[in-house]
Amino acid sequence: MNILERYHAMEYGPAPEARNEADAWLAGRDFSKALFIDGAWKAAAGGRTFETSEPSSGKLLAKVSDAGAADIDAAVVAAAKALPKWSASSGYARAKVLYAIGRAMQRHQRLFAVLESIDNGKPIRESRDIDVPLAIRHFIHHAGWAQTLEKDFPNHKPVGVVGQVIPWNFPLLMLAWKIAPALAAGCTVVLKPAEFTPLTAILFAEICERAGVPKGVVNIVQGGPEAGAAIVNHPGVQKIAFTGSSEVGKIIRKATAGSGKKLSLELGGKSAFIVFEDADLDSAVEGLVDGIWFNQGQVCCAGSRLLVQEGVAEAFIAKIKVRMSRLRVGSPLDKNTDIGPLVDRTQLNRVKGLIAEGAKQGAVCWQPDAALPSSGYYHLPTLATGVSPANILAQEEVFGPVLATMSFRNTEEAIELGNNTRYGLAASVWSENINLALHVAPQLKAGVVWINGTNMFDAACGFGGYRESGFGREGGREGMFEYLAVKLPVGPVIKPTASGSAQPVEQADGTAIDRTAKLFIGGKQARPDGNYSLAIATAKGKLAGEVGLGNRKDIRDAVAAARACKAWPEATAFNRSQVLYYLAENLSGRADEFAARLVQLTGATGKAAREEVELSIERLFLYAGLTDKFEGRVHQPPARVVTLALHEPVGVVGIVAPDNQPLLNFISLVAPALAMGNTVVAVPSERHPLLATDLYQVIEYSDLPAGAINIVTGRSAELAGVLAKHDDVDGLWVFADAGICAKAEADSIGNLKRVWTGNGRTLDWTSSEAAGEPFLRRAIEVKNVWVPYGD
Ligand code: NAD
Repeated sequence: MNILERYHAMEYGPAPEARNEADAWLAGRDFSKALFIDGAWKAAAGGRTFETSEPSSGKLLAKVSDAGAADIDAAVVAAAKALPKWSASSGYARAKVLYAIGRAMQRHQRLFAVLESIDNGKPIRESRDIDVPLAIRHFIHHAGWAQTLEKDFPNHKPVGVVGQVIPWNFPLLMLAWKIAPALAAGCTVVLKPAEFTPLTAILFAEICERAGVPKGVVNIVQGGPEAGAAIVNHPGVQKIAFTGSSEVGKIIRKATAGSGKKLSLELGGKSAFIVFEDADLDSAVEGLVDGIWFNQGQVCCAGSRLLVQEGVAEAFIAKIKVRMSRLRVGSPLDKNTDIGPLVDRTQLNRVKGLIAEGAKQGAVCWQPDAALPSSGYYHLPTLATGVSPANILAQEEVFGPVLATMSFRNTEEAIELGNNTRYGLAASVWSENINLALHVAPQLKAGVVWINGTNMFDAACGFGGYRESGFGREGGREGMFEYLAVKLPVGPVIKPTASGSAQPVEQADGTAIDRTAKLFIGGKQARPDGNYSLAIATAKGKLAGEVGLGNRKDIRDAVAAARACKAWPEATAFNRSQVLYYLAENLSGRADEFAARLVQLTGATGKAAREEVELSIERLFLYAGLTDKFEGRVHQPPARVVTLALHEPVGVVGIVAPDNQPLLNFISLVAPALAMGNTVVAVPSERHPLLATDLYQVIEYSDLPAGAINIVTGRSAELAGVLAKHDDVDGLWVFADAGICAKAEADSIGNLKRVWTGNGRTLDWTSSEAAGEPFLRRAIEVKNVWVPYGD
């Protein structure tokens, strides 16, 4: 045998990671007392336990206490008791605790990694080199945020007791993403790991004991969906942070509607892995291996849809097949293993079922010729070709080692296919032409875009999705906001208006010319679809005029016009800023007229009315000025990469405005949305819509492109409901009575749009706190684009 023959015949020898420490830990613990509540280890009140087993063998690992509602209640009570002291403690004190946790984890790094691989089935190389180090970095990074909180987040306070529910695919890392920012912000937590993977969270609770985390600040409860639901529904919890499936995310959105609980959802994905013909194909193959077969594909941001440019598709797929044949499927504790078992038999069956269905729908599924271990929930890496965009494998999150491939002809088609999903978590773009990659990245509807790379994460960089991948970000500055509440100048409770009732209006006195305001859609005044109108009263109960009674069809038209308007989101920030200045200028030219209208309609004094108009002009000026200043950031994670945290418009934003200070509130809500490049469908004050309809001419003379703002007058309750259910509306802001707000949240689950409500209260729009950054932040998505550098 010559050297070359020897080289090709070389086999990997076994390289097992020792597991004795983990086994000793498992043997030494009483898992029937695995609820960490108020600093003590407790059994479930109902005495129940559930089993966690080893995916590589199916063997039982432990019978773990299964929390019920009473246990969740005890945990929330403990967190609430600990909250005042913890949130009042100095940033430095909290930083020291976070740092101590990070350091203690470092000391037990190997144990964490081995336990994670035993419990979840992920290869030890991944838990050892990725999950655990990233989790540790998260705690140490967030120690810094605790100390800079007051300076970096002025006017914010901790949101309170936080309920956190996480999945099984990155048990320790997801725990770190949840607990570190919450503690830094001054919140106390009740966290529930997934029922398949409770072990590293139990070890983490031990670390909390040793690191001096005060009692009740971190409570870790084990259990399944019932325990999760008890956390979500507990009235003592002020925020829910959930990571898991979109299906459960929607249940939680609905369950928390109207509760006033802050909510962040990190859900599923169907991320595109886009390979242009000028990409370094060998690097792209390596990227793809990481993109789809990392953690057996059980990754929310897995690059599960390969889009490859036609000219290189055949060659690329041939390379993938060669590489797939070399992937080593085997024990997760073997350091040479690339692919371990799936987490559980149910997950294995689900993956098999989806592959069978995909094949039925025309996909050709290929697997390398390799043997699977005789026991455990293993599945071979699978490549599906001939996948149509509608195939289940192209649309559904498989959450397994399955890659669906499609080809594209040109850049436009790549973007279109990339966005052809209801999700929007991540994307990966491969091209040696960095200009092209940076041209494509902003056009992909995804919270994270990796250029010539994949699965890069860091504690300083936000991670999170668009659309049905959820809302909110974890990590970095934007992640901190999720655990903080901003002080807004809250106004009175909004009382419900009797639906369908016209305002009591006496006849006009005959001195004014009759005016009926239409709707404003796509840059034109439009008659309402139903041809009904609504009588609007003056403050004295006389008829001031009539407005169109908008309905579902009018909202649909307005949303279509807003979606079709590309000129506004694509305009430069400076351009948008000039238009807003121009709006202010034109409004100021008609200030007296608007002041008189306010007096007539709202009964405001002349002085108050003039002040409201002046403040409206000032606010337009403010947003015109902020348009090109509320910018993203550049992060420098600990690798050869820069991360561009770009501010992007949310998209089409629906706005339902309240009655108080009707000119000022309308401008205070619409201007920040416009400033950030959103297109708007606004429903003005139901009682005083004439202030908004009087703006038509101001808008028409201000160079705002058609469709950038659309105004539909009518009944707030009805129109808010239509906006909430509309799947082409990306964001919805509602200042209306509590019932309308709750319903808007509950009805938003179709596309999981981002909803912001006043929870049944209005704001004092005259306050300077009713303007600026808190509004702009709600008008943007932060997209993190990762750009590696170096040879
Ligand atoms: P899952 O939604 O079934 O469960 C997630 C967690 O929610 C578990 O702890 C579970 O016990 C709990 N739960 C289930 N039903 C509940 C209910 N009605 N109320 C409250 N809690 C409930 O998801 P999974 O199968 O454990 O995890 C896989 C999913 O997680 C995938 O869709 C994946 O994409 C997603 N994920 C997303 C991210 C992200 O950052 N976007 C990260 C990891 C995983």
